[in-house]
Amino acid sequence: MGPESFADFYRAKRILVTGGAGFLGSFLCEKLLAAGAEVLSVDNYFTGRRANIAHLISNPMFEAMRHDVTMSLFVEVDAIFNFACPASPVHYQFDPVATTKVSVHGAINMLGLAKRLKCPILQASTSEVYGDPTVHPQTEDYWGNVNPIGPRACYDEGKRCAETLFFDYQRQHRVAIKVMRIFNTYGPRMHENDGRVVSNFVISALRGEPITIYGTGAQTRSFCYVDDLVDAALQLMATPADVTGPINVGNPNECTILDLARKIIELTGSSSKLVFQPAPQDDPKQRKPDISLARSVLEWQPTIGLDEGLRKTIAYFERRLVEGDLKR
Ligand code: NAD
Ligand code: UDP
Repeated sequence: MGPESFADFYRAKRILVTGGAGFLGSFLCEKLLAAGAEVLSVDNYFTGRRANIAHLISNPMFEAMRHDVTMSLFVEVDAIFNFACPASPVHYQFDPVATTKVSVHGAINMLGLAKRLKCPILQASTSEVYGDPTVHPQTEDYWGNVNPIGPRACYDEGKRCAETLFFDYQRQHRVAIKVMRIFNTYGPRMHENDGRVVSNFVISALRGEPITIYGTGAQTRSFCYVDDLVDAALQLMATPADVTGPINVGNPNECTILDLARKIIELTGSSSKLVFQPAPQDDPKQRKPDISLARSVLEWQPTIGLDEGLRKTIAYFERRLVEGDLKR
């Protein structure tokens, strides 16, 4: 389904976006409004920012509700994007019990809502369900290599349990589910203090401060620009009911963390030096999505390369630095 047919699917539909004030959620709200939908953002602002959705507030088709998805929610909508959950290791390890609760209780509440409303629901799952993968690149049929008791487990196992719930609600209650496994995504509106590699490196480079590499920097990730990711989510929701996923979405253009640092230094013209610190426990050594399924089922593939995406991200953080709006 091409982008032009999105609008037919979303026009005049009421769409709930949980985590709507977050990095990905705010772009999703924006694109849904552009596609003619009425959008309800539900967020407790744990890691999201009102500033991310401030420009949408005056739109009569947009509504922002403060609510914690671990509590029941009674609203009437036609489709649900379940994006509420802290996403960076720093944020999801801040209160690990809350992370498992938002993943599991949040999923149960939103699936219950979808069951009552008989509406489709899309889960923002993650490449972390593959843990430190022994299969490379990762395909959807790989069951993963997750440490169930380590510091990343609150997120990894929370998201794995959420996937279990999605498929059980589908088998047991016939809920129309869509499970999207999102690989590292970056862009404007990433939280400046979430410790994720792209925002960390860009902000350090712009400030001329040392760029900190955890481990040797030989570990790899594959970075997808936010616009591409959100387009895939919109397309997945609009697929027929028999398309459930799980489906990998990301940019298969793999790079080492060291190369990413060098590229950001080059693009910012920074004089930052590289410093090395020990790798965090259970840090995955490699990550790259196999997106054959997304290519065939969604007719989707990323269109924005790393240089172009990084330039847009750098411009965003540069503007916030100039405005004195970046907190340490
Ligand atoms: P984010 O932290 O910017 O957004 C998450 C949003 O959820 C925030 O606005 C936060 O306030 C909200 N939230 C957290 N707990 C909540 C609760 N209990 N009730 C209501 N709202 C709550 O992160 P993001 O990068 O936009 O991630 C969005 C989703 O995508 C998450 O589910 C994440 O796991 C998933 N994901 C993101 C990436 C990525 O690279 N960005 C990769 C894989 C998966
Ligand atoms: N990383 C790093 N320096 C930083 C932040 C992250 O070297 O300032 C590394 C981190 O150890 C990991 C990779 O970059 O190997 C991606 O980290 P991020 O937290 O962005 O995402 P995730 O590990 O969840 O993929």
